[in-house]
Amino acid sequence: MNKRIVVLGAGESGSGAAVLAKTKGFDVFVSDKSKIADNYKSLLDKYEIAWEEETHTESLILNADEVVKSPGIPDKAPIIKALMAQKTPIISEIEFAARYTKAKMVCITGSNGKTTTTMLTYHILKNAGLNVGLAGNVGKSLALQVAEDNFDYFVLELSSFQLDNMYDFRANIAILLNITPDHLDRYDYCMQNYINAKFRITQNQTPEDAFIFWNDDPIISEELKSRTINAQFYPFAETPEEGVKGYTENEQIHIETDQAEVFLMELSKLALSGTHNLYNSLAAGISAKLLDIKKENIRQSLSDFRGVEHRLEYVTRIRGVEYINDSKATNVNSCWYALESMKTPTVLIIGGTDKGNDYTEIEALVKQKVKAMVCLGVDNTKLHEFFDGKVPTIVDAGSMQEAVDHCYRLAEKGDTVLLSPCCASFDLFKNYEDRGQQFKECVKSL
Ligand code: ADP
Repeated sequence: MNKRIVVLGAGESGSGAAVLAKTKGFDVFVSDKSKIADNYKSLLDKYEIAWEEETHTESLILNADEVVKSPGIPDKAPIIKALMAQKTPIISEIEFAARYTKAKMVCITGSNGKTTTTMLTYHILKNAGLNVGLAGNVGKSLALQVAEDNFDYFVLELSSFQLDNMYDFRANIAILLNITPDHLDRYDYCMQNYINAKFRITQNQTPEDAFIFWNDDPIISEELKSRTINAQFYPFAETPEEGVKGYTENEQIHIETDQAEVFLMELSKLALSGTHNLYNSLAAGISAKLLDIKKENIRQSLSDFRGVEHRLEYVTRIRGVEYINDSKATNVNSCWYALESMKTPTVLIIGGTDKGNDYTEIEALVKQKVKAMVCLGVDNTKLHEFFDGKVPTIVDAGSMQEAVDHCYRLAEKGDTVLLSPCCASFDLFKNYEDRGQQFKECVKSL
């Protein structure tokens, strides 16, 4: 009898995993506790894959030889607990897909900057002519691309949830951008569990592989004292430090991958601004250099990259006020970097679903740069408790329209209006994309 693979969750990763499993001859069943989107239903039907929605039928799931779990399903879900109790192997779509490809894997994780660095790295590799796919949290699933395409390289954005169910996967190049508290609700409120999940990106690496990381991240530095990692280290930092392979000096970016030191380009030519984006550019640049991409190509791609929607995205300028959409800033640390890059007095839109935020991290920057704060959320109590008396003006808004109207009134010529909410969006919006979209629409119709 064929081995039975059950796929839980029929979104992008789940339906892709099901297609790949089917093409490899497994007996495949897909189960989703919610409704399955029509495009995924059609895909599953096209490949004649059995599926169910809005339920998990235990008798069809617990008989699996192996389960591919979508990253959105927590381990606390009853069906996962039941599978774990009977010791059924549970893996992620990436783990499953990687078994069927020999492509080189460039993998990116971290608390912030993953998507930007992934897109930037992909942009460099693609423009240099490599046969490269983009997958993980962005674009099409890895599994579907392994089933339908034949790439030599993949650039993968890996969240901690994906890493959680990865065991034998090997990253040829692993990038760990930073570690700050996030998603602790999924890690029993234990920071070490979250840190361990992030470091899984280095498991199975060999001395032929590369580990690229931010040298000044206090958590990463502490962890490296006690961990064994077999890959070659390629740390990056803002300024030259002992052992650092990517840094800036005299307004120029330097990258060293082998014996030779390479002057890559002038800092001012980078397409993405802000210190955080310098880190992202250094990480992408080192990985490209390790893949032997010519420095002219890297330089060109780092300077013509267009950025990613909802990440410090320039919207427009109205009456001398610049509007910036950073809706993806769903935690305090990413807002810190957004504020740090502000060069003019700022009207900040903040708020939403709090994930256990500690606002002390941004307090100094807020005092220094924020002239007015618009709290956009169903419950703004925690924001008021923390910021009242620390910012000249604080107002509340219950909708994006109201928030943007406040900003229009409060901002003067030369100021910047920044949506960088520190919080998830689910109280008032479908998701962060919806929040950013509404912001842009309201701003454009001012
Ligand atoms: P992720 O995919 O990890 O959520 P994104 O690239 O989508 O990261 O960026 C999310 C937010 O984090 C952006 O709004 C940006 O302001 C901030 N950010 C981007 N890169 C970094 C970085 N290297 N360090 C800290 N914050 C960053």
